[in-house]
Amino acid sequence: MLVTQAYRFELDPNDKCRSKLASHAGAARFAYNWGVSLVSDHLAARRALVVLAIWQGAGREDAECWADGLLGPLPWTLPALRRAWNQAKVAVAPWWAENSKEAYNSGLDALARGLDAWSKSRRGARKGPRVGFPRFKTKNGARRSFKVTTGVFEVTDSRHVRLARIGVIRTKEPTAKLAGLLDAGAGRVLSATVSQSAGRWYVAFGVEVTRPEYRAAPGRVVGVDVGVKSLAVLSTGEVVPNPKHLSTYQRRMARLQAQCARRAGPARGQAPSKRWVRSSARLGRAHAKVASARTDGLHKLTTRLVKTHETVVVENLNVAGMTASARGSGHWRGKAGLNRAVLDTAPGELRRQLAYKAAWYGSRLVVADRWYPSSKTCSRCKTVKAKLSLSERTYRCERCGLVIDRDLNAATNLAFLVESVTSIGTASGAGTGTLLRRGSRANAQGEERFMGSPRCSSTNCEDGTSSELEKTVTAARQQVAPKPALVGSDR
Ligand SMILES: [Zn+2]
Repeated sequence: MLVTQAYRFELDPNDKCRSKLASHAGAARFAYNWGVSLVSDHLAARRALVVLAIWQGAGREDAECWADGLLGPLPWTLPALRRAWNQAKVAVAPWWAENSKEAYNSGLDALARGLDAWSKSRRGARKGPRVGFPRFKTKNGARRSFKVTTGVFEVTDSRHVRLARIGVIRTKEPTAKLAGLLDAGAGRVLSATVSQSAGRWYVAFGVEVTRPEYRAAPGRVVGVDVGVKSLAVLSTGEVVPNPKHLSTYQRRMARLQAQCARRAGPARGQAPSKRWVRSSARLGRAHAKVASARTDGLHKLTTRLVKTHETVVVENLNVAGMTASARGSGHWRGKAGLNRAVLDTAPGELRRQLAYKAAWYGSRLVVADRWYPSSKTCSRCKTVKAKLSLSERTYRCERCGLVIDRDLNAATNLAFLVESVTSIGTASGAGTGTLLRRGSRANAQGEERFMGSPRCSSTNCEDGTSSELEKTVTAARQQVAPKPALVGSDR
C-alpha cells in the first residue's frame, strides 16, 4: 500500500546553521506578510473605486467591472502571488538572494491556502467555524517554519540530514530507520518541513512509502473510551495509564504559570521584565514537554490497538460542544476543570490516529453515532439511564445492580455495538438501522441527517422514560440496534 508518511527528527544545529534556519523561516514570514498587505491593499482599492463609480451614478455591476479593469485581477492563487513576488522582490527585499527561493515560496503557499479557506468560508463552501482574512504574522507570535519541495534534502547517514542552502545538520535522534528505507528504495522523500517550537528545531520529511500488507488479528473487537483520569479505558478491562512523568510536568507548568502571573508581562502596556521573559520561556518548554509526553503515549496506544484488533470502536465525541461552555461564565464555569481533562486526553487526536493507522494495518475503525448512549447504558442488562452526570465516575445500575467503572462500562457498550450490528447484518443481509458509520468526520456529520426522526431533549426523555426505556431494552434484547433518537444525547 502506497502512503505518504511523515518522519520527524529534532535537529541539533550549530550556530551557523541555526542562524540560517532562522533566516529561512523569517523569509517565509516576510513573503507571507508582503502578500497579505498586497491582497488587502488591492481589495481596499477595489472597494474605494466601486464606491466612487456608484457615487458617479453607475450600477453596482458596472462599477465592479470598471474597478477590475483598472486594477487587474487579484493575485490570490499561488502562481499569481509568485509572479507578483518575483516582480517586487528586488525592490522590497534586496537581500532576497540570501535565502533559498523555496523559503519565500512556502510563505506564499501558506497565504494562498489561507486566502482560499477564507473565500470558501465566506461563500459557505467550507465546513467548520468561520475563517477570517489572513492576518500578519508577528515575529515572536507565529510558529516559525518553512517547507522545501525541490532541491537537495536528504538523509546523509544515520545521524545527519542535508538541506539545500543550509548544509548538513546533526539530528538529536537516529535517522537510521528512514535512511535504511531510502537505501532499499522503498521510499521517496517528497518534501522537508523545518519548524521551530519552544526553542527547538525540527525537520519533518514527507515520504512516499510502500507499506507491507498487514492483517490484524481476525475477529477481535475492542471498544475504547477516552478516559478522564487515564489515557483510555478498553472494553477488555484494561486501563491505559497516562504517560509517565505527565503529572510532574503538569505540576511544573502550574508553578511556572503562577510565576509568570506575578511578574510584569507585556500586557501592562510596557516591555516585559527580563524575569517574565525567562519564566515565560520556561513555561513554553514545559508546555512542549507535556504535549510530547501525551503524543508519545497516544501513538503507542493507537498502534497497539490497530495491530492487535480487527475492529476498533470509538465514540463520536463532539469535542467542541462538550467544552464550549467552559468559556462562559456563572455556574458553567465549574466545568472548566473537567474540560481541561477532556482536552488533555485529546479524543479527536486519538480518533485521527486510529483512522489512518487502521488503514495501514488492515483493521477497521468504527465510529459510534453521536447519540448512542454508551455511558448511560448498563453493559449487563442494557437499561438506559435517563441522566448520568459527568461527575459520577462509577456506574450503578438500578435494575440489575451492576456496579462498574464508568469508562469501562462505556467501552464495553462500544464493543457490544459492533457485535450486535454484525449479527443483524448477517441475519437480514442488510445493515438497516445501523448505528455505525465508518470513516471520516465528514461522514459522521452527514449521519445526523440520515437518522431522520427528531432528537428529543433530555427533559422530554425524563417524562417518557419508562416507555422509551422499554422500547430500547426490548430492542437491545432482540439484538436490534436501538434507535438513538429515542434516548437523547449521551452527554
Ligand atoms: Zn443493569
